[in-house]
Amino acid sequence: MSFLSYVTPSATSPWHTYLSQVDRVLPYLGHLAHWSETLKRPKRALIVDVPIEMDDGSVAHFEGYRVQHNLSRGPGKGGVRYHPDVTLEEVMALSAWMTVKCAAVNLPYGGAKGGIRVDPKTLSQKELERMTRRYTSEIGIIIGPQRDIPAPDVNTNGQIMAWMMDTYSMNTGTTATGVVTGKPLHLGGSLGRVKATGRGVFVTGREAARRIGLNLNGARIAVQGMGNVGSSAAELFIGAGATLVAVQDHTGTLVNPKGFDMANTMAVLKRDGGISGYKDAEKVDNEDFWNVDCDILIPAALEGQITVPRANRIKAKLVLEGANGPTLPEADDVLKERGVLVVPDVICNAGGVTVSYFEWVQDFSSFFWSEDEINVRLDKIMVDALKHIWDTADHHKITLRTATFAVACERILTAREERGLYP
Ligand code: NAD
Repeated sequence: MSFLSYVTPSATSPWHTYLSQVDRVLPYLGHLAHWSETLKRPKRALIVDVPIEMDDGSVAHFEGYRVQHNLSRGPGKGGVRYHPDVTLEEVMALSAWMTVKCAAVNLPYGGAKGGIRVDPKTLSQKELERMTRRYTSEIGIIIGPQRDIPAPDVNTNGQIMAWMMDTYSMNTGTTATGVVTGKPLHLGGSLGRVKATGRGVFVTGREAARRIGLNLNGARIAVQGMGNVGSSAAELFIGAGATLVAVQDHTGTLVNPKGFDMANTMAVLKRDGGISGYKDAEKVDNEDFWNVDCDILIPAALEGQITVPRANRIKAKLVLEGANGPTLPEADDVLKERGVLVVPDVICNAGGVTVSYFEWVQDFSSFFWSEDEINVRLDKIMVDALKHIWDTADHHKITLRTATFAVACERILTAREERGLYP
Protein backbone atom coordinates (compact mmCIF):
# COMPACT_ATOMS: atom_id res chain seq x y z
CA MET A 1 0.00 0.00 0.00
CA SER A 2 1.35 3.44 -0.93
CA PHE A 3 1.58 6.07 1.78
CA LEU A 4 -0.79 8.07 -0.44
CA SER A 5 -3.48 5.72 0.86
CA TYR A 6 -2.98 7.16 4.33
CA VAL A 7 -4.09 10.64 3.31
CA THR A 8 -7.66 11.55 2.57
CA PRO A 9 -7.56 15.07 1.22
CA SER A 10 -10.63 17.13 2.00
CA ALA A 11 -11.81 19.76 -0.47
CA THR A 12 -9.95 22.46 1.46
CA SER A 13 -6.72 20.59 2.22
CA PRO A 14 -3.46 21.93 0.74
CA TRP A 15 -2.77 18.63 -1.04
CA HIS A 16 -6.19 18.83 -2.70
CA THR A 17 -5.42 22.42 -3.74
CA TYR A 18 -2.11 21.30 -5.25
CA LEU A 19 -3.72 18.37 -7.14
CA SER A 20 -6.34 20.72 -8.66
CA GLN A 21 -3.58 23.07 -9.75
CA VAL A 22 -1.81 20.18 -11.50
CA ASP A 23 -5.05 19.14 -13.24
CA ARG A 24 -5.46 22.67 -14.56
CA VAL A 25 -2.02 22.70 -16.20
CA LEU A 26 -2.19 19.30 -17.93
CA PRO A 27 -3.83 20.62 -21.18
CA TYR A 28 -0.77 22.89 -21.67
CA LEU A 29 1.93 20.23 -21.25
CA GLY A 30 1.59 18.47 -24.61
CA HIS A 31 3.12 14.99 -24.70
CA LEU A 32 4.77 15.57 -21.28
CA ALA A 33 1.32 15.19 -19.69
CA HIS A 34 2.06 11.47 -20.09
CA TRP A 35 4.34 11.84 -17.03
CA SER A 36 1.78 13.72 -14.94
CA GLU A 37 1.44 10.99 -12.27
CA THR A 38 5.03 11.89 -11.30
CA LEU A 39 3.71 15.25 -10.12
CA LYS A 40 0.84 13.69 -8.16
CA ARG A 41 2.98 11.31 -6.10
CA PRO A 42 5.70 12.44 -3.71
CA LYS A 43 8.86 10.42 -4.28
CA ARG A 44 9.50 9.75 -0.60
CA ALA A 45 7.95 10.57 2.79
CA LEU A 46 9.51 9.96 6.18
CA ILE A 47 7.50 10.13 9.41
CA VAL A 48 9.58 10.23 12.57
CA ASP A 49 8.93 10.07 16.29
CA VAL A 50 10.81 12.83 18.12
CA PRO A 51 11.06 12.03 21.83
CA ILE A 52 12.75 14.58 24.10
CA GLU A 53 13.30 15.10 27.78
CA MET A 54 11.38 18.14 28.99
CA ASP A 55 12.83 20.57 31.56
CA ASP A 56 10.64 19.01 34.29
CA GLY A 57 12.13 15.54 33.66
CA SER A 58 9.12 14.11 31.79
CA VAL A 59 9.41 12.72 28.24
CA ALA A 60 7.36 14.22 25.41
CA HIS A 61 6.89 12.76 21.92
CA PHE A 62 6.41 14.89 18.80
CA GLU A 63 5.61 13.75 15.27
CA GLY A 64 7.97 14.98 12.55
CA TYR A 65 7.97 14.69 8.75
CA ARG A 66 10.29 15.13 5.80
CA VAL A 67 8.82 14.72 2.31
CA GLN A 68 10.84 14.73 -0.90
CA HIS A 69 8.31 15.36 -3.61
CA ASN A 70 10.48 15.29 -6.73
CA LEU A 71 14.24 15.06 -7.25
CA SER A 72 14.37 14.99 -11.06
CA ARG A 73 16.17 18.34 -11.36
CA GLY A 74 18.49 18.12 -8.34
CA PRO A 75 18.59 17.64 -4.58
CA GLY A 76 15.50 18.35 -2.51
CA LYS A 77 15.04 21.88 -1.18
CA GLY A 78 12.46 23.19 1.22
CA GLY A 79 11.80 24.61 4.66
CA VAL A 80 10.96 23.12 8.03
CA ARG A 81 7.79 24.25 9.80
CA TYR A 82 6.97 24.01 13.51
CA HIS A 83 3.22 24.37 13.99
CA PRO A 84 0.47 22.49 15.87
CA ASP A 85 -1.50 21.98 12.61
CA VAL A 86 1.33 20.35 10.64
CA THR A 87 0.28 17.05 9.02
CA LEU A 88 1.81 14.67 6.49
CA GLU A 89 -0.68 15.94 3.91
CA GLU A 90 0.29 19.57 4.47
CA VAL A 91 4.00 18.78 4.22
CA MET A 92 3.33 16.83 0.99
CA ALA A 93 1.66 19.89 -0.55
CA LEU A 94 4.37 22.25 0.65
CA SER A 95 7.05 19.93 -0.80
CA ALA A 96 5.22 19.78 -4.14
CA TRP A 97 4.97 23.58 -4.31
CA MET A 98 8.75 23.66 -3.72
CA THR A 99 9.28 21.41 -6.77
CA VAL A 100 7.22 23.80 -8.89
CA LYS A 101 8.79 26.94 -7.38
CA CYS A 102 12.41 25.82 -7.86
CA ALA A 103 11.67 24.93 -11.48
CA ALA A 104 9.78 28.20 -12.07
CA VAL A 105 12.91 30.21 -11.24
CA ASN A 106 15.10 27.54 -12.88
CA LEU A 107 17.13 26.53 -9.80
CA PRO A 108 18.86 23.12 -9.98
CA TYR A 109 16.72 21.67 -7.19
CA GLY A 110 13.84 19.33 -6.61
CA GLY A 111 11.21 20.01 -3.98
CA ALA A 112 11.06 18.91 -0.33
CA LYS A 113 9.60 20.10 2.94
CA GLY A 114 9.61 19.15 6.60
CA GLY A 115 7.79 19.90 9.77
CA ILE A 116 7.01 18.99 13.35
CA ARG A 117 3.53 18.98 14.80
CA VAL A 118 4.21 21.23 17.79
CA ASP A 119 3.42 24.65 19.18
CA PRO A 120 6.98 25.87 19.73
CA LYS A 121 5.72 28.72 21.94
CA THR A 122 5.03 26.11 24.64
CA LEU A 123 8.68 24.94 24.70
CA SER A 124 11.64 26.47 26.52
CA GLN A 125 14.70 27.36 24.43
CA LYS A 126 16.50 24.22 25.67
CA GLU A 127 13.51 22.01 24.81
CA LEU A 128 13.34 23.63 21.36
CA GLU A 129 17.02 22.83 20.84
CA ARG A 130 16.64 19.20 21.98
CA MET A 131 13.61 18.71 19.71
CA THR A 132 15.42 20.27 16.72
CA ARG A 133 18.52 18.14 17.26
CA ARG A 134 16.59 14.88 17.64
CA TYR A 135 14.44 15.67 14.58
CA THR A 136 17.59 16.43 12.54
CA SER A 137 19.15 13.12 13.61
CA GLU A 138 15.97 11.23 12.69
CA ILE A 139 15.72 12.74 9.19
CA GLY A 140 19.55 12.59 8.84
CA ILE A 141 19.21 9.42 6.78
CA ILE A 142 17.67 11.34 3.87
CA ILE A 143 19.06 14.92 4.10
CA GLY A 144 22.53 16.17 3.12
CA PRO A 145 24.22 18.92 1.10
CA GLN A 146 23.79 16.91 -2.14
CA ARG A 147 20.55 15.15 -1.19
CA ASP A 148 18.07 17.45 0.51
CA ILE A 149 18.72 20.86 2.04
CA PRO A 150 16.24 22.22 4.65
CA ALA A 151 15.68 25.94 5.39
CA PRO A 152 13.48 28.08 7.69
CA ASP A 153 9.70 28.26 7.35
CA VAL A 154 6.91 29.16 9.79
CA ASN A 155 8.25 29.34 13.39
CA THR A 156 11.79 28.32 12.45
CA ASN A 157 14.77 30.67 12.03
CA GLY A 158 18.54 31.03 11.77
CA GLN A 159 19.14 29.64 15.28
CA ILE A 160 17.21 26.48 14.45
CA MET A 161 19.19 26.13 11.19
CA ALA A 162 22.42 26.49 13.24
CA TRP A 163 21.35 23.59 15.52
CA MET A 164 20.38 21.51 12.47
CA MET A 165 23.73 22.18 10.79
CA ASP A 166 25.64 21.37 13.99
CA THR A 167 23.70 18.14 14.62
CA TYR A 168 24.15 16.89 11.05
CA SER A 169 27.86 17.84 11.21
CA MET A 170 28.34 16.00 14.53
CA ASN A 171 26.66 12.89 13.13
CA THR A 172 28.72 12.87 9.92
CA GLY A 173 32.03 13.97 11.46
CA THR A 174 32.54 16.98 9.21
CA THR A 175 31.36 20.59 9.28
CA ALA A 176 28.68 20.49 6.60
CA THR A 177 27.56 24.09 6.18
CA GLY A 178 25.72 23.24 2.93
CA VAL A 179 23.21 20.92 4.65
CA VAL A 180 20.81 23.77 5.49
CA THR A 181 20.31 27.35 4.31
CA GLY A 182 19.04 30.36 6.19
CA LYS A 183 21.93 29.94 8.66
CA PRO A 184 23.45 32.77 10.72
CA LEU A 185 26.20 34.68 8.88
CA HIS A 186 29.10 33.26 10.96
CA LEU A 187 28.10 29.72 10.01
CA GLY A 188 28.07 30.11 6.24
CA GLY A 189 24.82 32.04 6.01
CA SER A 190 24.28 34.54 3.21
CA LEU A 191 23.77 38.27 3.37
CA GLY A 192 20.26 39.12 2.21
CA ARG A 193 18.73 35.71 3.07
CA VAL A 194 16.59 36.81 6.02
CA LYS A 195 14.66 39.34 3.94
CA ALA A 196 14.91 37.52 0.58
CA THR A 197 11.39 36.09 0.48
CA GLY A 198 9.84 39.47 1.29
CA ARG A 199 12.12 41.10 -1.28
CA GLY A 200 10.94 38.62 -3.92
CA VAL A 201 7.32 39.44 -3.04
CA PHE A 202 8.18 43.12 -3.50
CA VAL A 203 10.00 42.59 -6.83
CA THR A 204 7.20 40.52 -8.37
CA GLY A 205 4.63 42.96 -6.92
CA ARG A 206 6.50 45.94 -8.34
CA GLU A 207 6.58 44.31 -11.82
CA ALA A 208 2.92 43.27 -11.69
CA ALA A 209 1.87 46.75 -10.50
CA ARG A 210 3.78 48.36 -13.38
CA ARG A 211 2.08 46.09 -15.91
CA ILE A 212 -1.43 46.90 -14.62
CA GLY A 213 -0.70 50.63 -14.24
CA LEU A 214 -0.83 50.71 -10.43
CA ASN A 215 1.49 53.32 -8.94
CA LEU A 216 3.24 52.00 -5.82
CA ASN A 217 3.72 55.55 -4.59
CA GLY A 218 0.52 56.05 -2.59
CA ALA A 219 -0.74 52.47 -3.02
CA ARG A 220 -2.49 51.03 0.06
CA ILE A 221 -1.36 47.59 1.19
CA ALA A 222 -2.90 45.09 3.62
CA VAL A 223 -0.76 42.26 5.01
CA GLN A 224 -1.80 39.05 6.74
CA GLY A 225 1.13 37.66 8.75
CA MET A 226 3.84 40.02 10.05
CA GLY A 227 6.54 37.38 10.34
CA ASN A 228 9.66 37.05 8.24
CA VAL A 229 7.88 37.32 4.87
CA GLY A 230 5.10 39.83 5.65
CA SER A 231 7.25 42.33 7.54
CA SER A 232 10.11 42.32 4.98
CA ALA A 233 7.69 42.82 2.09
CA ALA A 234 5.80 45.58 3.96
CA GLU A 235 9.05 47.46 4.67
CA LEU A 236 10.04 47.45 1.00
CA PHE A 237 6.59 48.57 -0.20
CA ILE A 238 6.59 51.40 2.34
CA GLY A 239 10.08 52.32 1.10
CA ALA A 240 8.58 52.62 -2.41
CA GLY A 241 5.91 55.05 -1.17
CA ALA A 242 3.07 52.66 -0.29
CA THR A 243 0.98 52.92 2.89
CA LEU A 244 0.41 49.90 5.13
CA VAL A 245 -3.30 50.25 6.05
CA ALA A 246 -4.16 46.86 7.62
CA VAL A 247 -2.32 44.10 9.43
CA GLN A 248 -3.55 40.74 10.67
CA ASP A 249 -1.60 38.17 12.62
CA HIS A 250 -2.39 35.35 15.07
CA THR A 251 -3.13 37.95 17.79
CA GLY A 252 -5.71 40.02 15.87
CA THR A 253 -6.50 42.52 13.11
CA LEU A 254 -5.66 46.24 13.11
CA VAL A 255 -6.60 48.92 10.59
CA ASN A 256 -5.31 52.46 10.09
CA PRO A 257 -6.11 54.18 6.74
CA LYS A 258 -3.41 56.80 7.48
CA GLY A 259 -0.79 54.07 7.70
CA PHE A 260 1.23 52.06 10.22
CA ASP A 261 4.61 53.26 11.37
CA MET A 262 6.90 50.37 10.43
CA ALA A 263 9.55 51.05 13.11
CA ASN A 264 6.85 51.02 15.83
CA THR A 265 5.23 47.95 14.33
CA MET A 266 8.53 46.07 14.44
CA ALA A 267 9.20 47.22 18.01
CA VAL A 268 5.77 45.92 19.15
CA LEU A 269 6.36 42.60 17.37
CA LYS A 270 9.75 42.24 19.02
CA ARG A 271 8.32 43.11 22.45
CA ASP A 272 5.07 41.06 22.35
CA GLY A 273 5.51 38.49 19.56
CA GLY A 274 2.26 39.79 17.99
CA ILE A 275 0.64 42.92 16.58
CA SER A 276 -2.30 43.38 18.96
CA GLY A 277 -0.42 45.74 21.33
CA TYR A 278 0.16 48.33 18.55
CA LYS A 279 -1.62 51.47 19.79
CA ASP A 280 -2.12 53.79 16.81
CA ALA A 281 -4.72 51.69 14.91
CA GLU A 282 -8.29 50.45 15.26
CA LYS A 283 -8.89 46.82 16.32
CA VAL A 284 -11.46 45.16 14.04
CA ASP A 285 -13.02 41.73 13.71
CA ASN A 286 -10.66 39.24 12.00
CA GLU A 287 -13.16 38.65 9.19
CA ASP A 288 -13.16 42.39 8.33
CA PHE A 289 -9.55 42.12 7.20
CA TRP A 290 -10.76 40.65 3.90
CA ASN A 291 -12.86 43.63 2.84
CA VAL A 292 -10.51 46.37 3.95
CA ASP A 293 -10.05 49.20 1.40
CA CYS A 294 -6.67 48.56 -0.21
CA ASP A 295 -4.92 48.24 -3.59
CA ILE A 296 -2.58 45.34 -2.79
CA LEU A 297 -3.35 42.40 -0.50
CA ILE A 298 -0.46 40.25 0.74
CA PRO A 299 -1.41 36.98 2.44
CA ALA A 300 1.84 36.01 4.23
CA ALA A 301 0.69 33.59 6.94
CA LEU A 302 -0.77 30.13 6.28
CA GLU A 303 -2.60 28.08 3.63
CA GLY A 304 -6.30 28.13 2.75
CA GLN A 305 -6.95 31.73 3.83
CA ILE A 306 -8.67 33.05 0.68
CA THR A 307 -11.94 31.14 0.49
CA VAL A 308 -14.80 31.85 -1.95
CA PRO A 309 -16.71 34.19 0.43
CA ARG A 310 -13.53 36.12 1.22
CA ALA A 311 -12.53 36.27 -2.48
CA ASN A 312 -15.90 37.90 -3.18
CA ARG A 313 -15.17 40.65 -0.65
CA ILE A 314 -11.54 41.47 -1.49
CA LYS A 315 -11.22 45.08 -2.70
CA ALA A 316 -7.56 44.92 -3.80
CA LYS A 317 -6.64 44.94 -7.50
CA LEU A 318 -3.55 42.84 -6.87
CA VAL A 319 -2.98 39.85 -4.56
CA LEU A 320 0.64 38.89 -3.86
CA GLU A 321 0.91 35.40 -2.37
CA GLY A 322 3.74 35.65 0.13
CA ALA A 323 2.40 32.55 1.91
CA ASN A 324 2.31 29.10 0.35
CA GLY A 325 -1.11 27.94 -0.80
CA PRO A 326 -3.19 30.83 0.63
CA THR A 327 -5.89 30.65 -2.09
CA LEU A 328 -8.32 27.76 -2.59
CA PRO A 329 -8.88 26.75 -6.27
CA GLU A 330 -12.54 27.89 -6.34
CA ALA A 331 -11.54 31.22 -4.79
CA ASP A 332 -8.90 31.56 -7.52
CA ASP A 333 -11.73 31.35 -10.08
CA VAL A 334 -13.70 34.05 -8.24
CA LEU A 335 -10.71 36.39 -8.19
CA LYS A 336 -10.16 35.80 -11.91
CA GLU A 337 -13.81 36.54 -12.70
CA ARG A 338 -13.67 39.70 -10.60
CA GLY A 339 -10.53 40.90 -12.43
CA VAL A 340 -8.25 40.69 -9.39
CA LEU A 341 -4.72 39.83 -10.50
CA VAL A 342 -3.03 37.12 -8.40
CA VAL A 343 0.75 36.67 -8.44
CA PRO A 344 0.88 33.06 -7.23
CA ASP A 345 3.06 31.72 -4.40
CA VAL A 346 5.12 29.52 -6.74
CA ILE A 347 6.72 32.63 -8.24
CA CYS A 348 5.81 35.40 -5.76
CA ASN A 349 7.62 33.91 -2.74
CA ALA A 350 10.46 32.26 -4.70
CA GLY A 351 12.94 34.93 -3.53
CA GLY A 352 13.72 32.95 -0.38
CA VAL A 353 14.75 29.77 -2.13
CA THR A 354 16.67 31.78 -4.73
CA VAL A 355 18.90 33.34 -2.06
CA SER A 356 19.05 29.95 -0.32
CA TYR A 357 20.52 28.69 -3.58
CA PHE A 358 23.04 31.57 -3.50
CA GLU A 359 23.91 30.57 0.09
CA TRP A 360 24.46 26.93 -0.90
CA VAL A 361 26.67 27.95 -3.84
CA GLN A 362 28.68 30.31 -1.58
CA ASP A 363 29.11 27.52 1.02
CA PHE A 364 30.50 25.14 -1.60
CA SER A 365 32.92 27.69 -3.02
CA SER A 366 33.72 29.20 0.43
CA PHE A 367 33.55 32.58 -1.28
CA PHE A 368 30.93 35.05 -0.11
CA TRP A 369 29.20 37.79 -2.08
CA SER A 370 28.21 41.31 -1.03
CA GLU A 371 24.60 42.10 -0.16
CA ASP A 372 24.33 44.34 -3.23
CA GLU A 373 25.46 41.50 -5.50
CA ILE A 374 22.88 39.21 -3.93
CA ASN A 375 20.01 41.69 -4.23
CA VAL A 376 20.87 42.57 -7.84
CA ARG A 377 21.06 38.88 -8.85
CA LEU A 378 17.82 38.12 -7.00
CA ASP A 379 16.04 41.01 -8.72
CA LYS A 380 17.16 39.85 -12.16
CA ILE A 381 16.17 36.20 -11.62
CA MET A 382 12.72 37.20 -10.34
CA VAL A 383 12.09 39.75 -13.11
CA ASP A 384 13.21 37.38 -15.88
CA ALA A 385 11.19 34.47 -14.45
CA LEU A 386 8.04 36.59 -14.11
CA LYS A 387 8.42 37.93 -17.66
CA HIS A 388 8.62 34.39 -19.08
CA ILE A 389 5.56 33.39 -17.01
CA TRP A 390 3.65 36.49 -18.08
CA ASP A 391 4.40 35.78 -21.79
CA THR A 392 3.19 32.19 -21.28
CA ALA A 393 -0.01 33.43 -19.62
CA ASP A 394 -0.65 35.87 -22.50
CA HIS A 395 0.10 33.20 -25.12
CA HIS A 396 -2.35 30.62 -23.70
CA LYS A 397 -4.76 33.15 -22.13
CA ILE A 398 -4.39 31.52 -18.72
CA THR A 399 -3.84 32.81 -15.18
CA LEU A 400 -0.36 33.52 -13.86
CA ARG A 401 -0.74 30.48 -11.58
CA THR A 402 -1.44 28.05 -14.41
CA ALA A 403 1.28 29.73 -16.49
CA THR A 404 3.83 29.28 -13.66
CA PHE A 405 2.84 25.61 -13.39
CA ALA A 406 3.13 25.28 -17.20
CA VAL A 407 6.67 26.72 -17.28
CA ALA A 408 7.79 24.75 -14.22
CA CYS A 409 6.13 21.42 -15.02
CA GLU A 410 7.56 21.44 -18.54
CA ARG A 411 11.05 21.73 -17.01
CA ILE A 412 10.39 19.06 -14.35
CA LEU A 413 8.85 16.54 -16.73
CA THR A 414 11.45 17.13 -19.44
CA ALA A 415 14.11 16.29 -16.84
CA ARG A 416 12.08 13.21 -15.87
CA GLU A 417 11.82 12.10 -19.48
CA GLU A 418 15.50 12.74 -20.27
CA ARG A 419 16.66 10.82 -17.19
CA GLY A 420 14.34 7.93 -18.01
CA LEU A 421 12.91 5.42 -15.59
CA TYR A 422 15.23 3.32 -13.46
CA PRO A 423 15.70 0.38 -13.93
P1 NAD B 1 6.74 33.39 10.43
O1 NAD B 1 6.64 32.33 11.44
O2 NAD B 1 7.92 34.30 10.46
O3 NAD B 1 5.41 34.31 10.47
C1 NAD B 1 4.13 33.78 10.37
C2 NAD B 1 3.14 34.90 10.55
O4 NAD B 1 1.82 34.39 10.35
C3 NAD B 1 3.16 35.50 11.97
O5 NAD B 1 3.03 36.91 11.87
C4 NAD B 1 1.91 34.91 12.61
O6 NAD B 1 1.36 35.73 13.61
C5 NAD B 1 0.99 34.82 11.42
N1 NAD B 1 -0.12 33.88 11.63
C6 NAD B 1 -0.06 32.62 12.10
N2 NAD B 1 -1.30 32.10 12.20
C7 NAD B 1 -2.15 33.06 11.77
C8 NAD B 1 -3.56 33.14 11.63
N3 NAD B 1 -4.33 32.10 11.94
N4 NAD B 1 -4.10 34.28 11.14
C9 NAD B 1 -3.32 35.34 10.82
N5 NAD B 1 -1.97 35.32 10.93
C10 NAD B 1 -1.40 34.20 11.40
O7 NAD B 1 6.62 32.65 9.00
P2 NAD B 1 7.17 33.12 7.60
O8 NAD B 1 8.51 32.51 7.41
O9 NAD B 1 6.99 34.60 7.44
O10 NAD B 1 6.17 32.35 6.62
C11 NAD B 1 4.90 32.86 6.27
C12 NAD B 1 4.41 32.17 5.01
O11 NAD B 1 5.37 32.38 3.96
C13 NAD B 1 4.23 30.65 5.11
O12 NAD B 1 3.17 30.26 4.26
C14 NAD B 1 5.53 30.13 4.55
O13 NAD B 1 5.42 28.79 4.08
C15 NAD B 1 5.75 31.11 3.44
N6 NAD B 1 7.14 31.18 2.97
C16 NAD B 1 8.16 31.47 3.83
C17 NAD B 1 9.45 31.55 3.33
C18 NAD B 1 10.61 31.96 4.20
O14 NAD B 1 11.72 32.16 3.68
N7 NAD B 1 10.45 32.14 5.51
C19 NAD B 1 9.71 31.30 1.98
C20 NAD B 1 8.64 31.03 1.13
C21 NAD B 1 7.37 30.98 1.63
